[in-house]
Amino acid sequence: EIILAIETSCDETAAAVVQGGTELLSNVVATQMDIHQKFGGVVPEVASRHHIEQMTAVLEQAMDEADVTFDDIDAVAVTQGPGLVGALLVGVNAAKAVAYAHDLPLIGVHHIAGHIYANRLQQPFEFPLLSLVVSGGHTELIYMNEHGDYQLIGETRDDAAGEAYDKVAKALELPYPGGPQIDQLAQSGEDTYQFPRSYLEEGSYDFSFSGLKTAVINKLHQKRQKNEPIDRENVAASFQASVIDVLVNKTYQAALEHNVKQLIVAGGVSANQSLRARLQEKFEGSGIELYIPPLYLCTDNAAMIGAAASIQYHQGDFAGLDLNANPGLMME
Ligand code: ATP
Ligand code: FE
Ligand code: MG
Repeated sequence: EIILAIETSCDETAAAVVQGGTELLSNVVATQMDIHQKFGGVVPEVASRHHIEQMTAVLEQAMDEADVTFDDIDAVAVTQGPGLVGALLVGVNAAKAVAYAHDLPLIGVHHIAGHIYANRLQQPFEFPLLSLVVSGGHTELIYMNEHGDYQLIGETRDDAAGEAYDKVAKALELPYPGGPQIDQLAQSGEDTYQFPRSYLEEGSYDFSFSGLKTAVINKLHQKRQKNEPIDRENVAASFQASVIDVLVNKTYQAALEHNVKQLIVAGGVSANQSLRARLQEKFEGSGIELYIPPLYLCTDNAAMIGAAASIQYHQGDFAGLDLNANPGLMME
C-alpha cells in the first residue's frame, strides 16, 4: 500500500509518501526553526500560522517527489497528537480535506509511535523489542511484543531529556533549539563538574532530569554572581555526561531484564553524537541489536508517521472524518 502522511505537531510542516511501511518515496520537511529562534522557543500561534502557509506546498512537493497521483494513494495518515493543538489541527484538517476530496481512508497516528517507526524505514523489527524514546516532550522506555503494541515501562517524572537540553542551553545563552548546540560544545569539553545522576529507586525505569537541570542553572548563577568566567564546553559536557549515563545505564538494564532482541532509539535527542556513541559501546557484544535512525529521521518528519500508519492500515484501524486533534493523546 502507499500512504500519504502529514505531520504538524510542533514546528515542522512535513509530508511524505511511504510504500509498504518501509519504503520512502518522498519526505518533505519545512522547518520553522529560524522563525522561532527569535523568540527562544516555539510560539504556538506563530507555529499554527506557518503550518497553514506551508501545508499545501509541502503536500504538493511530497506528491511530486514521490512521482505519484492521488489514484496511487491508498490512505492518508496524520499525526493526531500529542503536540500543540493549533499546530496539530492544521495537519488533521489538511488530511481530512485530502481524504474527503479523493475518497481515501484516514488514519490518525500517535506522534511517538511515529518516532519509533522511523526505525522501520531502516530495518525490520524483531520482537520483543525495547524502544528508548528521547525527544522534546518525552523520555520513555517502551516495550513491544508485536506491531502496534506499546507497553510503557518507564517515563520521566518531570522534564523530558530534550526539554532539559533546551533549558540548560537557554541558561548558557545558546540559541534555540539547544540540544544540537550543547552536543557540539560538549565535544570539546570534559565532565569537570560531576553534576548529580538521578537513578531514582532501585529497579525503577523512570527518569528525572529536573534536579540535574537545576544543579546546572544554580552553578551558572553562582559563577555569574562571582563574576567567574563560564567554561561553556565543560558545563555542556558535564550536563550531557549526567544525562547520558542515566539514559544508557537504565536502558541497558531494562533491555536485559526484558530479554529483548532489539533496542531501537527514537526522537530528536537520538541525534546526539555522544548518546549514539555510548549506546553503541554499551550494547556491543550484548546480543541485542541496536538501531538508531539516521539524523534526518530522528527529529520530526512525516515519513515516520507513514511508517507507523502502515501497521494501522493492515489492522484496519481507520478514523472517521470526525477525527480530531488530541494534544494529550495517550499511547496505550
Ligand atoms: P515530542 O516528539 O516529544 O512531541 P518534539 O517533537 O518537539 O517533542 P523532537 O522534534 O523529536 O521533539 O526533538 C526535538 C528535541 O530534540 C529538542 O529538545 C532538541 O533540543 C533535541 N535535539 C535535537 N538534536 C539534538 C542533539 N544533537 N543533542 C541533544 N538533543 C537534541
Ligand atoms: Fe517529535
Ligand atoms: Mg520538533
